Amino acid sequence: MDRSYQVFKEIKLRSPDVSVNTFISRAAEEVLRMYGLEQKLVKISDGDYLEEIFRESEQGSSSPKVGRFLLGRYDALFITPATSNTVSKIAYGIADSLVTNAVAQAVKGRVPVYVVPVDIEGSIVSEMPYNIDRKQCRHCEDCPPRENCPHGAITERNGLTDQIELLKCKGCGICKELCPYGAIKGGPVEILVRDVDKRNVEIIKSLQGITVLESPEKILDFF
Ligand code: SF4
Ligand code: SF4
Repeated sequence: MDRSYQVFKEIKLRSPDVSVNTFISRAAEEVLRMYGLEQKLVKISDGDYLEEIFRESEQGSSSPKVGRFLLGRYDALFITPATSNTVSKIAYGIADSLVTNAVAQAVKGRVPVYVVPVDIEGSIVSEMPYNIDRKQCRHCEDCPPRENCPHGAITERNGLTDQIELLKCKGCGICKELCPYGAIKGGPVEILVRDVDKRNVEIIKSLQGITVLESPEKILDFF
């Protein structure tokens, strides 16, 4: 998610005349909030016409805004990152969410669609949010993770370590290294890509109007 955001931030830096309209699914909204990216989105979609942010939670899954794809308002649609759930829906022509509906309308409107699947092959490294395992935390009087978090993201309650505030956490992983009891979880985790997800990626590669990109950074090649 962060890599996709950084790519569009870079595009705005390279080409300030490019308008970026952002469509956010319900699931993406939660993740954006978790990684503290929600407030930063104005750097890529600042609210002007065609630079708006459309949230599925506000617009619903069949927002009239996706009709713009039929009216020639957009040059391209990038779905990044596309979860295996979204890829499977696109593969079978299902358009029951804001994002999959946008894909359907874009193809009908001859707007090229580029999809960056999360689960593409082999195994992937996913970033899990950092958190304190309450069962393992010993509520030490001196808590090195809390004392050394460079962003003050670890809160205390009644003088003892409480939790990690995800809106402040930058995911540096220092706290995980510093807890002597392994109570801090999260960070990079290797996840196996299922065969069914690989098959669905192959299916969308063959679909009309859709191109699969291997990474969000490939989007930069278009600008
Ligand atoms: S050092 Fe680890 S176990 Fe001790 S309070 Fe901090 S997080 Fe919990
Ligand atoms: S990952 Fe880094 S920013 Fe987040 S709580 Fe740990 S030390 Fe703080």
